[in-house]
Amino acid sequence: MPGIGAYTAGAIASIAFGERVPAVDGNVLRVIARLAADRGDIGEPDTRRRFTLLVTQMLPAEKAGDFNQALMDLGATVCLPNGEPRCGLCPARNSCEAFRQGLTAEIPVTTQQKKRRIEDITVFVISCDGRFALRKRDDKGLLPNLWEFPNTEGRLNAEAAAAFARSLGVTPIEVYELPEARHIFTHLEWRMKGYFIRAAQCGAGEPPVWATADEISRSYSIPTALKTYEAFCRNPTAGAGKDLRQSERGEPS
Ligand code: SF4
Repeated sequence: MPGIGAYTAGAIASIAFGERVPAVDGNVLRVIARLAADRGDIGEPDTRRRFTLLVTQMLPAEKAGDFNQALMDLGATVCLPNGEPRCGLCPARNSCEAFRQGLTAEIPVTTQQKKRRIEDITVFVISCDGRFALRKRDDKGLLPNLWEFPNTEGRLNAEAAAAFARSLGVTPIEVYELPEARHIFTHLEWRMKGYFIRAAQCGAGEPPVWATADEISRSYSIPTALKTYEAFCRNPTAGAGKDLRQSERGEPS
């Protein structure tokens, strides 16, 4: 029938008429790829056909519509795209090969993923008198108009990190390395290195803006990509490394 694709036909037949046929949308393709840890490109017709066959084999004898809906819901609400599945909430976790092998960020493979650009950036959580430095992103491009912690391209060492902080008008007293993080956008992946910098002298005016942890969570939209570092505003040095400037000051580590 014109305008009715395989997915819609399968959904109508199984949900409305109880037929034992699959309904495979993008959410289902992602779930199946992860459950099987299958690196087939889900943008390719061959992979879609193969996964559709797999779902067909998994269908229960009765209530195929419920099964199809459950798979779609799992993909839409738990097995989320862009490397952010909520595996801790997933009822299929014990059967999931991607979870078992730690591959949930790499699977599913898509044509887009093959073209994804990787950017190294260094993120700075700069603290001064209980407030943290923020700046606003451009109104064009990636994450327009959102607030962010100061950051710069590349992977800076501690010395360069302190110099970067000074370029913002602050005087670093302590410099801690934070855990690394990454975030996957559709065409881009950020690989982030982080520093927590305790500063003695806050820069004045904008940028940067200075805000407390409460003000940040209440009034500033920090992108999900940087949430790992927002956590350090509440608990600054938990999980951070040692003060990297101790050695400069001749203090024992
Ligand atoms: S365990 Fe994680 S990756 Fe596997 S199906 Fe569940 S949400 Fe998806």
